[in-house]
This record gives sequence, structure tokens and C-alpha cells, in this order.
Amino acid sequence: MRKIEHLGIAVKDIKKANETFAKLLGKSSYKQETVESEAVTTSFFEIGESKIELVQATAETSAIHKYLDKNREGIHHIAFDVADIYAEIERLKSEGFIFINDQPKQGADNKLVVFIHPKSANGLLVELCQERS
Ligand code: ZN
Repeated sequence: MRKIEHLGIAVKDIKKANETFAKLLGKSSYKQETVESEAVTTSFFEIGESKIELVQATAETSAIHKYLDKNREGIHHIAFDVADIYAEIERLKSEGFIFINDQPKQGADNKLVVFIHPKSANGLLVELCQERS
């Protein structure tokens, strides 16, 4: 793993959160994108080598919607940048980590992504992401 690619923040109202984070970070979101497969809309802020990803559900079937039924808004996942997502999946499986989806899928921000189940990572939802070339 090379760096923290982004922190994912679950929000209820992405418009309001965009304004709050723009004030907080002193810059605007550089990209907003809906990911149909996850039923979420996302907004990205660059902060040094990392990013903040705001995530709002677009449907009740969304994992973010279910998450916010049980939890407050706030940090939802940490995403690590990896050079070879398939090699990392193999390595982490051999270390006993459990994946939510077995195969990487198209995520926001032109990335291939896969998630590790929180139950195998001290309660933390971990995303691995690899830049698509
Ligand atoms: Zn993410």
C-alpha cells in the first residue's frame, strides 16, 4: 500500500456537506460523480497527497443509506492506494482478511476498487483502490 488515497465521509446532504468542506479546506470540490452500481453520489476534495470523498446515498438500497440508519454522519471508510489491486487481494486473503466483493469493480474517480469487511480489520471498512490507466 502506497498512501491513504482518501477518507470516505458518509453524509446525508451532499450539497450542504460540500459547502461545509469547501469552507473547512479553503477550496472547492474538484469532482462530483454518481456511481450507479453503488447507488451513491460522491464529491472529492484534494488535500495534499490525499483526498476527502463525501458520499451520499441516492437510493434506500445503498450501503450508505443503511449505514446512516445505524450510525452518525462521519468517517465511513479509509481508502489505500495500491499499485496492483489483484496482487494485494491475494496477499491480504492469505493473511486472513475477508473481502466484501471478491472482484474489483469500477468505483468513483476512475478507480478499480474492492472493500475489506470491517469484521476482519478492527471494525474499519477498508477500500483498496488502483488508478485505472
Ligand atoms: Zn471511497
